Amino acid sequence: MASNPSLPPSVTRLIEALSQLPGIGPKSASRLAFFLLRSPAEMSLALADALRDLKARTRLCSVCFNITESDPCPVCADVSRDHGLICVVEEPLDVAAIERARVYRGVYHVLHGVISPINGVGPDDLRIDELIGRIRKSAEAGQPVREVILATNPTVEGEMTASFIQRKLAGLEVSVTRLARGLPVGGDLEYADEVTLSRALEGRQRM
Ligand SMILES: [Zn+2]
Repeated sequence: MASNPSLPPSVTRLIEALSQLPGIGPKSASRLAFFLLRSPAEMSLALADALRDLKARTRLCSVCFNITESDPCPVCADVSRDHGLICVVEEPLDVAAIERARVYRGVYHVLHGVISPINGVGPDDLRIDELIGRIRKSAEAGQPVREVILATNPTVEGEMTASFIQRKLAGLEVSVTRLARGLPVGGDLEYADEVTLSRALEGRQRM
């Protein structure tokens, strides 16, 4: 965005930073910047604090790779959950969606993306080797993983990723299932409602 001489540099800087966010064009960025300018200083300061903490306090769980402030994350650290059941998802927001449905008592594994040749994302860019390692380690520790639920999105890339992981798991003593259809094709897990998600989980099928 070309800087406007009528705007102070600090305002231009905020507008430019906000414009980098997905779904926010220069117009929305300007609107947000002026909204903050008109609002009490506390609002801007609270936002600035939240932004600083976002990176300073969070990290990836060393077990499931979900975003967390403590390692292992609260789900992995919860002994009342079923650690023999791993639900593999694309993104942290998918974990949040499944947790909202309140029907799943297993643990998770976050891939951080899907295989996408068009975007130059290969299996090595995802946490797939870590999943295999995790399953092997659990078996060695005498607490084998019984089932892996592949809950990648029902998109071409999500299906491709699920098939790839299924092949990788073929040599291991673990049952591999896929979420039942019912999720809208091409839809995103994170936007599915709780009833649909519960049904998709309950009706999961062996791959
Ligand atoms: Zn975890």
